[in-house]
Amino acid sequence: MSKANPHYQKITREYIFPIIDKELEQVREEHPNKKILNFGVGDIVHPLKPSIVKALTKACTEMGEKVVGYGPSTGYHFLKKAVIDSEYGKYGIKASEVFISEGTINDCVNLLDILDVDNEIAIPDPAYPSYLDAAIMDGRTRAAKKGNDFPDIIYLPCTEETGFLPRPPKKGCDVIYLCSPHNPTGMALTRSDYEQWIDYAKEHDALIILDAAYECFIRSDNVPKSIYEVKGAKDVAIELRTFSKSAGFTGLRCAYSIVPEAIKAKLGKEDVSLHKLWTQRQNAKSNGVSYPVQRAAEASLSKKAHEETTEDIEDYLIQTKRLKDGLRDHGQTCYGGDDCPYIWWKCPEGVSSWDFFRHLLNELHLLCIPGAGFGKRGEGYVRLSGFTNEEAAKEAVKRLKKL
Ligand code: PLP
Repeated sequence: MSKANPHYQKITREYIFPIIDKELEQVREEHPNKKILNFGVGDIVHPLKPSIVKALTKACTEMGEKVVGYGPSTGYHFLKKAVIDSEYGKYGIKASEVFISEGTINDCVNLLDILDVDNEIAIPDPAYPSYLDAAIMDGRTRAAKKGNDFPDIIYLPCTEETGFLPRPPKKGCDVIYLCSPHNPTGMALTRSDYEQWIDYAKEHDALIILDAAYECFIRSDNVPKSIYEVKGAKDVAIELRTFSKSAGFTGLRCAYSIVPEAIKAKLGKEDVSLHKLWTQRQNAKSNGVSYPVQRAAEASLSKKAHEETTEDIEDYLIQTKRLKDGLRDHGQTCYGGDDCPYIWWKCPEGVSSWDFFRHLLNELHLLCIPGAGFGKRGEGYVRLSGFTNEEAAKEAVKRLKKL
């Protein structure tokens, strides 16, 4: 008989987003006439922009006129070049250091393939759940005792004391997941925060994997758009970006990882280039992203499409601000939301995040995500997503009166 991967049994929490969908369905059944306002999962609410649709349809038509077969597994040069021309060239990154993929979720978990299981991994808490789940599924930690942290993971608390962002730990580690702007707390690492992380990574010969899925929402001057704006980053950091939020590609699927050639990792007595291993991994385990999707992604980086998508991003930021101001006007304590479309809302004293979540859903018909779903240190908060429209945000603020 085949043997299942035993590490899956160590995962005791269910993946948060499908649970939220189930809760939503249940409340919809119980209250069919009540309009539930969805500030939960954080999916886009605006359709694709005209220039992107045009490029997508043109590429599909092209495929009916000539054969477009397998493309390069690390992505077409035209898209890599567009990534370089639109921004990364100015940081000295080359097209060969750009790897196109189906999503940042794929990149952040697949990168573990090129890293030894012996690496000590540091993960923010609370965080996007895939980092931890992938490390557990991969057999990188022993099981947690009931209610305890996983023993081989270094947790980076993102709590009130740390400004809701991960800070370099006292002890050394080998691989660090960072996410900035940070999901779920909605805060962003500043230039000096990055400097501290880069110094730490150099001191401990560690690798930083930066998930920059929400980079397009950055507005503060002291928050770099890319870690490569900061000196030394190219030696220690891999950066991940997606078209999901910047251009509304959650249903199309396209993202990229930047893996600088300078980054080295130990392999026995030698140092090996992670760029080489990542190329090898992608060649063996992927046949790339579809041609029309890559053409659409290329179009999204054009000046015209950028203007169109920026309107949506600005709108999400406006709705986020509307929600945050509304919460504060109602005496609520909340954080984030300036460089990120997420608000980290403090639960009333002594109320758990699941209880507060259910109260908001059942009484105010507002759907958010309980902070505990992002990790133990997310307890005491709920995440409210600003991926919404003006009508829903205004209605939500009205409903807050009932709190
Ligand atoms: N990383 C973070 C922090 C996210 O919040 C999300 C999606 O919400 C992703 C990655 C997934 O990105 P993609 O759609 O490119 O897989």
